[in-house]
Amino acid sequence: MKAVYSFTQISILLNQFQTSEVDNKRMSISSYAKFCVRVSLQLFYQYMKEIFEKYDVVVGLEIHAQLLAKSKAFSYDKAEYGAPPNQNVGVITLGHPGTLPRHNKEAVRMAVKVGLALGCDITEYNQYARKNYFYADLPKGYQITQDKTPLCRGGFVTVKDADGRDKNIHLTRIHMEEDSGKSIHDMDMEYSVVDYNRAGTALIEIVSEPEIRSGEEAFQFVTEIRRLLRYLDVCDGNMEEGSLRCDANVSIKLKGSEVFGTKVEVKNMNSITNVRKAIEYEVRRQHEAVQKGEELVSETRRFDALKNITFSMRTKEQVNDYRYFPEPDLPPLIVSKDFIAEVRQDMPLLPEQLVAMFVTELGLSQYTASVLTESKETAAYFIEITRHTKNHKAAANWVMGEIKGYLNLNALDITRFPLSAPTIARLIALIDEGKLSNSVATQVIFPELVKNPMSDPLEIAARLNVIQTSDAGFLQELIDEVLTAYPEKVAEYKSGKEGLLGLFVGEVMKKSKGKADPKLTNEMLRERLG
Ligand code: ADP
Ligand code: MG
Repeated sequence: MKAVYSFTQISILLNQFQTSEVDNKRMSISSYAKFCVRVSLQLFYQYMKEIFEKYDVVVGLEIHAQLLAKSKAFSYDKAEYGAPPNQNVGVITLGHPGTLPRHNKEAVRMAVKVGLALGCDITEYNQYARKNYFYADLPKGYQITQDKTPLCRGGFVTVKDADGRDKNIHLTRIHMEEDSGKSIHDMDMEYSVVDYNRAGTALIEIVSEPEIRSGEEAFQFVTEIRRLLRYLDVCDGNMEEGSLRCDANVSIKLKGSEVFGTKVEVKNMNSITNVRKAIEYEVRRQHEAVQKGEELVSETRRFDALKNITFSMRTKEQVNDYRYFPEPDLPPLIVSKDFIAEVRQDMPLLPEQLVAMFVTELGLSQYTASVLTESKETAAYFIEITRHTKNHKAAANWVMGEIKGYLNLNALDITRFPLSAPTIARLIALIDEGKLSNSVATQVIFPELVKNPMSDPLEIAARLNVIQTSDAGFLQELIDEVLTAYPEKVAEYKSGKEGLLGLFVGEVMKKSKGKADPKLTNEMLRERLG
């Protein structure tokens, strides 16, 4: 396929493909469906590859994170999610004449933490700014934000590029600002209603350089930011509830060109996966437009997660001039070196540091270590198990295998996992001591334990009669039974087909209901068969 195909062309092609193959081979419905998926994926990748060969994708992200400070950014109003509407709305939030905003030290501390974790320089002298615009959810008629002196500059997030190499996406800035209220358009038939509880709550906005080159890189970027925010306990990272929001600026340019294309800003993605999807859709849409010779316009678009498309909200010409000016009601915020040192002292271990520790001190692979540090709570649980067992690899396998499976199945997170870390360590010990086989432990004992978290694994094993046995007499009996049942296989084995040993071991295990010690069984079988 040399030419670049439009969507319409692709679908025609797809149809031709499908009918000819179906006619030729008389496919069943299910293999036809599989075939369609395969062809579509192939064509999609081919299509994307062609875009990437000719064009650079340029993406810069703006991420708003709601800080978990107890009160609002510049007032004593409570900042809590889910309160009855318009409860936490004092005179400062409403901008009554004669009231004065004040800096919230807790919020500043949280923002500095984020800056330090991302390797930013922290600004000492912070002049806040007023951004003026009129909208129903903005009670004061302006937003307090930072303009010329953002709290953090520089820093970066590392992602893997398309070739699997580490790539640093640099940050332009992180600044502090206050959130707006919430307009609700579907509560009343006639009117829009507004809830000002959120107005004035503390936000940080993290702005990336336009260095992201694909939806996948953007996905990794936001995932990493969210993981850090959660490790630092400064934001709950919940995109559905809007405590983490991400706008993607997307454009394409011819490869090698120094000039950026016209960018489009996409909003309203309520998950990280949708950030990726929105960018991928935008890239295809812009590419098709360029192919058709259409001019792209600078605009704000929204992502529709049901249809998987973006649609235009407003063009940029309609956007206000915000008339930024220094906020006269707030004194400049001075972030001293001492304050920064104090915050630094207070920093928890970050995922990267934990990964390094798991690899060097516990001998885990890089991959295992990074899976275990996906969330702070998972890492903490794993560490707790390693306090009770020296078999760190087994601990990692339990967390990533059985425990993760159980949590996924029951839609729980690890903080709600019923078994204590010492219980898991005890299971590991029982396996290592040869009292339980691995399969009995995972398939029989574990499911019983999660139903009765307080019971003892060995007692359960005794009750269910599945304690592994090294009783040679018992094993000998089973081995005899198996070998008598398979005379031809025994003959084949003796004539050199040694791979059959596994079959015999398996049969003995089955007969013993998992109680046979596999190592001993193996040895005894080998001896018996000569
Ligand atoms: P605006 O004034 O429209 O908000 P900014 O220059 O502040 O634009 O940039 C906002 C975001 O857009 C940043 O993340 C930046 O990296 C990104 N960006 C800037 N130019 C482009 C472009 N041509 N294509 C994609 N992203 C861009
Ligand atoms: Mg912007």
